[in-house]
Amino acid sequence: MKRIKGALAATALTAVMLTAPAHAQDKGYVGIAMPTQSSARWISDGNSMVEQFQEAGYETDLQYAEDDIPNQLSQIENMITKGVDVLVIASIDGTTLSNALANADAAGIEVIAYDRLIRDSEHVDYYATFDNFQVGVQQAESLVAGLEERFPDASPWNVELFGGSPDDNNAYFFYDGAMSVLQPMIDSGDIVIKSGQMGMDTVGTLRWDGSVAQARMDNLLSANYTDDQVHGVLSPYDGLSIGILSSLKGVGYGSGDMEMPIVTGQDAEVQSVKSILAGEQYSTIFKDTRELARVTVGMVEAVLNDGEPEINDTETYDNGVKVVPSYLLEPVPVTEENWEEVLIDSGYYEAGEFE
Ligand code: BGC
Repeated sequence: MKRIKGALAATALTAVMLTAPAHAQDKGYVGIAMPTQSSARWISDGNSMVEQFQEAGYETDLQYAEDDIPNQLSQIENMITKGVDVLVIASIDGTTLSNALANADAAGIEVIAYDRLIRDSEHVDYYATFDNFQVGVQQAESLVAGLEERFPDASPWNVELFGGSPDDNNAYFFYDGAMSVLQPMIDSGDIVIKSGQMGMDTVGTLRWDGSVAQARMDNLLSANYTDDQVHGVLSPYDGLSIGILSSLKGVGYGSGDMEMPIVTGQDAEVQSVKSILAGEQYSTIFKDTRELARVTVGMVEAVLNDGEPEINDTETYDNGVKVVPSYLLEPVPVTEENWEEVLIDSGYYEAGEFE
């Protein structure tokens, strides 16, 4: 019986081998280094890229480094040894890859910075990302819209600021974009930062860690808001917003007559969209990772075929050694008002995930 099964299996295998294209994935080998699986967006990024690269005929090696810098470095070195043709890298610390990229260059491997700029290296060929300054502008604009809506009579508004990880180039763009909206309002006295804590060196949150943000919010509340109310918190990422909201709820905001402050976010992660629907988080920023993958696949196709990738920015992203030619996608602000249209109608999420 076993032997018959084996013979059948062998016949089936031969049939598959005869009918399948000689090498479905022979257009090239792409190493994809992602920072962490602790945030859903990077999982979507990785999945979209593998799917789209494989559809286009490429072989892929996708690795996550769980926010550990040496881990990411060895994953990249490993990909170089395995002979990838291209590296697509969303770095953990954008300043730590120079040696690895010099090795990649020596091996003739092209390098694409994905979402986060890789700094201090000339061996970065292209950069695929979103308009990161605009993300910050949108976060601050939605913060102000929320303040006007929820606290029309409070004057001035008490606001606290959070920044992203200081080793992530994006964090500065988000912060600067937000401050382009908030600084004039601070100058005019419409917004007060009661803690006085401003600037990325003070408000940054290492590794985008929600528990670090929660602890800092606890301290801000106990030091500045025992007999005053905080009206708004600029948070650059949903994972930080979750920590900030826990801290606020811990001292009674969102219950009784203590209105929840306006809290922003980024990435439209499921848990945070649910929080928006529950009236806790106010807004987030949607960045369609399927689109970022599409742009990246296009860049890879071009560099491997001696073509010119489509770029739309040649000025903004100076990595300390060179200005990296970039393609910037448009981020989309999301609130309770438009979440269905932006996140469900686009097919990014299934409605069932929010029931
Ligand atoms: C990304 C954001 C993300 C953050 C934390 C940034 O580099 O651009 O989308 O929220 O990292 O993962």
